[in-house]
Amino acid sequence: MIGDPVRHSLSPTIHNAAFRALELDWVFAAFEVPAGGGRDAVQAMRALGLGWLSVTMPLKAEVVAAAARSSPTVVALGAANTLWWKGPDLVADSTDGAGFLDALRADEGFDPARRRCLVVGAGGAARAIVLALAEAGAAEIVVANRTPSRAEAAVALAPRVARVGDAAAADHADLVVNATPVGMTTEAALPVDPDRLGPGQLVVDLVYHPAITPLVDAARARGAAAVNGLGMLIHQAAHQFRLWTGEDPPLAVMSAAATAELAGRDLSG
Ligand code: NAP
Repeated sequence: MIGDPVRHSLSPTIHNAAFRALELDWVFAAFEVPAGGGRDAVQAMRALGLGWLSVTMPLKAEVVAAAARSSPTVVALGAANTLWWKGPDLVADSTDGAGFLDALRADEGFDPARRRCLVVGAGGAARAIVLALAEAGAAEIVVANRTPSRAEAAVALAPRVARVGDAAAADHADLVVNATPVGMTTEAALPVDPDRLGPGQLVVDLVYHPAITPLVDAARARGAAAVNGLGMLIHQAAHQFRLWTGEDPPLAVMSAAATAELAGRDLSG
């Protein structure tokens, strides 16, 4: 894995637990590579004969040019989180959107087809989610973001169903997604007014530490279903695992390893 910072990433814990469970002789290691180092890191991957790469901020756009091919999702997003070998070719892929949809469907029993969605944020995660929701048949996707030009760029990924709006769209949304770091610590800074949330809605906060974020807590208190972003993290890792190894990912093992690691961090402060 490459990125900066990567020291606190859960990905090594998740993937190494999966390798152990399937008795695969692989190890997943994180390398701190600052912005500008993506191309060299991919060259090093080739030179060292590394099996795959997971890519995180701030290198997700940089590595695309270093791969021989890109999946259609990467072409649309201009960003990748996964590199894998297809024969002699290095392929750039993106598993965030697919992981998000799997978390909705498999963990929450929520099918976004024909649903109205609000996505708060327009960064890399939000863009992947807007594209995935549109491809899954969402009826409407409102993108609310602090910087309007970035919201417009995210909407351009799905012009038939997405539009720029504000967080008041939560009033009539079936699905509300927080794809910003806002509200990680204080309820005063919640990304959506919780009084706009209620029964029949699903709220997903991409933040997963603390496990019950202020938004999740507030949404549940108003009767909405609400989950943090751990499900998305696990499912996007599962897609990587399948691309890399060709094996079915041991989801329960991956999830338990991540949960235990987070609990350990809570105990150690
Ligand atoms: P990013 O590309 O840096 O985008 C950050 C987004 O948050 C932008 O839309 C930004 O708005 C907005 N934002 C940041 N600070 C803000 C503030 N103080 N007030 C209002 N808006 C603010 O980051 P990202 O990769 O999309 O990640 C977004 C969040 O999702 C992070 O918390 C990240 O940890 C989480 N995430 C979770 C998963 C998962 O698997 N669970 C995966 C990816 C990301 P501007 O455009 O105005 O700057």
